[in-house]
Amino acid sequence: MEILFYLLIFLIFSWIIFLIVRSISKGLDAKSNTKKNKYTNEAEGKNLSMNNNKDLVKNTLDEFLDQVLIVNKFKEIVFLNKNAALRFGENLEGKHLASILRAPEILESFDICIENNEKQVVEVEIKNPIYQFFSATIFPHPENNNFIIIVLRDLTEIAKVQKFKSDFVANASHELRTPLQSIKLGLETINQGHAKNDFEAQKKFVPIMLEQAQRMENLIRDLLSLSKIELEEHIRPNKDIDLKDIIDHVIQAQNQSLSQNDVKINFDCKKDARRIVGDRDKLIEIFSNLIENAIKYSERGKNINISLKKKNDQILASVKDSGVGIPKDLIPRVTERFFRVDPEKSKKVGGTGLGLAIVKHLVLQHRGELNITSEEGKGSEFTVSFPAI
Ligand code: ADP
Repeated sequence: MEILFYLLIFLIFSWIIFLIVRSISKGLDAKSNTKKNKYTNEAEGKNLSMNNNKDLVKNTLDEFLDQVLIVNKFKEIVFLNKNAALRFGENLEGKHLASILRAPEILESFDICIENNEKQVVEVEIKNPIYQFFSATIFPHPENNNFIIIVLRDLTEIAKVQKFKSDFVANASHELRTPLQSIKLGLETINQGHAKNDFEAQKKFVPIMLEQAQRMENLIRDLLSLSKIELEEHIRPNKDIDLKDIIDHVIQAQNQSLSQNDVKINFDCKKDARRIVGDRDKLIEIFSNLIENAIKYSERGKNINISLKKKNDQILASVKDSGVGIPKDLIPRVTERFFRVDPEKSKKVGGTGLGLAIVKHLVLQHRGELNITSEEGKGSEFTVSFPAI
């Protein structure tokens, strides 16, 4: 009996131990399963995040304004961002770098970059078929130096603006230096040269110097006017203007010059073609330049026709002369700064070479358009169109 009692106690005890061990092992299993799942998820997460990173890098590079290429050691293209594909073409992966970029500066820097494992920066100027200027940064891939990254930054527009500015300063200095030198020469001749004690000779030099001083003054006036216009170009004038009044005013101001040159102006204004949105002083400057030119580049006795018409929703103001005209191929150039068809003629009549550049800017500021038609030896017509009110 006693044995049976102990046996029963032993069985119960064993059963309890069994239950405890089972529950612990279940717990551990559950724990290890959770861990396993966690690891699997992490692995998937890593892949997932790696995929995301790849897309993220590609999408980010596609947004770059720069052109980005990744090239392997054998100079085969392995990646192009959107802007590079736009410039060089699609599906270039696997092609040789030299097939799209022939600039020797880039290919040489590429070799140096591979050899020394060092970043290279070069500036490249291409003149044909169109002018291009860009900077190229070439560097080894940060994680795998078997690959080279090339970043091309297009600086063409900036280079063009810089060239334009330096050309402009050189031209303006040259234009100012020429009359200044004549004045200096005249003064030296009167002060110490052969005209020192010769009153008659002095009388000859003074008007020449005055004319040159006037030329300088005109030039400085036009240069200042141009720089002011450029500063205000984005501000659209907003006054209600009667164009007929403006043109009448300009014709009145030219009275003396008209009678000196024996020129008459016929002005025809249609009733519905008077009102535009504009700026009085700027419109006076536009029509003064156009009418002065029509007088300057016409022979004595040749008349000028001015008209104001309405066409669709535009007011067309035209200044037409029967003067020397402009060769066809040079018509697009007459609005360039300092461009003259005949520089001697322009200087003789007191031109600065800036009048039409000023007109073009002022017309644009009024959201208008300048149209030029001309025939050499027969005359020219300058038509400005403005949006009607
Ligand atoms: P400029 O001060 O030399 O007259 P503009 O900018 O007004 O400068 O004009 C540029 C050039 O365009 C002139 O030098 C001239 O050769 C030509 N031009 C302008 N207006 C006329 C015109 N009405 N007839 C013929 N040529 C003209």
